Amino acid sequence: MTKIPKPPQSAAETRAILKRLERQHPGADTELHYTTPYELLVATILSAQCTDERVNQVTPALFKRYPDAKALAGATTGDLEPQIRSTGFFRAKSKSLLGMATAVWEKHGGEIPATMEALTALPGVGRKTANVVLGHALGVPGLPVDRHVLRVSNRIGIAKGDDPEIVELQLCAAMPKAKWTVTSDTLILHGRRICKPTPLCDKCAVRDECLYYSRVVSKGSRFEGKKAARYRPRRRSGPRREAQKMTREHFEKLVEDALRDIPKRFRKEMRNVAVVVEDEPSRELLDEMEMEPGDTLFGLYQGTPLPERSWAFGNNLPDRISIYQKPTEEACESDDEIRDCVAETVIHEFGHYFGMSEDEIEEIEERFWRGESVEED
Ligand code: SF4
Repeated sequence: MTKIPKPPQSAAETRAILKRLERQHPGADTELHYTTPYELLVATILSAQCTDERVNQVTPALFKRYPDAKALAGATTGDLEPQIRSTGFFRAKSKSLLGMATAVWEKHGGEIPATMEALTALPGVGRKTANVVLGHALGVPGLPVDRHVLRVSNRIGIAKGDDPEIVELQLCAAMPKAKWTVTSDTLILHGRRICKPTPLCDKCAVRDECLYYSRVVSKGSRFEGKKAARYRPRRRSGPRREAQKMTREHFEKLVEDALRDIPKRFRKEMRNVAVVVEDEPSRELLDEMEMEPGDTLFGLYQGTPLPERSWAFGNNLPDRISIYQKPTEEACESDDEIRDCVAETVIHEFGHYFGMSEDEIEEIEERFWRGESVEED
């Protein structure tokens, strides 16, 4: 069994820090809307790489149409995909939802199982999703570790490492079981509101206890016009997944194919905008954009409002769109899916570039996904 590293802060210190953070973020809870364990499981699957707010817009109609696992198991991907499209990765998500619902109906009589083992055996359900459902809807202590929990806990020093499971074990060891779920919810809120990728330390309730603050921020930081060292999660070692072995040449060919599917007017403008294929965004660039890798999806600009966009060198127009091979491959299951996702990303970015409204962009995207002409009248 892997040895669990000891975090810099003791268990007593961790509990005291969480107490302060709970006071700063009273009533922390999941922001996903649900009334049953089934609904929370569906919403959590949809929330991957998507905001809770967007998921909450989609789920009321979805739950009305598919009120339980049996109803959802009877749907097809063709029924489901248009309804969840706006949450991103909708093909993979619709497969997960259908697989999960079928397994819940066939193996558990329609009841969401209340153990980590049974939940993670369901298609599309990982440890984080299982912990969300166990802790919030099934009354079983669970401590979901997402990117906010990882970042915040490592910065403060109440956890050490970039493996969510290790961080979960460290936090669970320090906190009483009854506090596991609220610990996760509190750290998530702190990460969203205060300890963002570029942290707002001046507003933080645990600044005096935070190791990142004492070791990095307080010693000549961006606040004083100097470049601060940033928290950089270690890269995972070990073999890459089969899907990640695609050559750059092959990936670039898929991107090239994808660009043939976008509207002509957009293609014409490509003369002024470079589409660059990169492996993944640099940590510095993400920090600059105040983004986390999960937010970047396939293109750096996706999901970020135009007025807020800026490159490190101060250009706020998209004179290039970066398409990232690694996250794209991780999220897509086939060459076709990669082509489609890249085309949608570029359509989306150019839509913003031309000052189109979200509705106008969405209309083109809808036509694209329906396989209809994307040319404007
Ligand atoms: S002091 Fe700064 S880095 Fe530390 S937890 Fe607070 S916001 Fe995050």
